[in-house]
Amino acid sequence: MPSCRICKQHYPQSQFVSGNGPRYLTCVRCAVEQGMVDPEAVPQLYSDELVNARMALFSRRYAPWVLVILGWSLYFSFGNGLGIWSLIFFVSLIILTLIAPVIHFFGSARFKANLLKLTP
Ligand SMILES: [Zn+2]
Repeated sequence: MPSCRICKQHYPQSQFVSGNGPRYLTCVRCAVEQGMVDPEAVPQLYSDELVNARMALFSRRYAPWVLVILGWSLYFSFGNGLGIWSLIFFVSLIILTLIAPVIHFFGSARFKANLLKLTP
């Protein structure tokens, strides 16, 4: 993958503007920031709203797994000696651990559709 002349980041070829001179080996983001092209002229640009929407989508997708990992680490660090609350915590962790893969599996089609919508 080529690297951008200005920000030195590596991107796929589709993320570069075509042209010679200052436009040579310049990624679309740098080209827009330096005023070489209009944002409307580069449909492949990941705008800030798009980046935020993608981030939100990915965090929604992996939130159950983060909860499972966080819950078990909490349980093993100090959730063990709380009497009845330990049992409630343990049972809800088991349920969450069993449900997380199911949620992940059933959400994959919708996730892919949403991701495709947010890919320029
Ligand atoms: Zn760049």
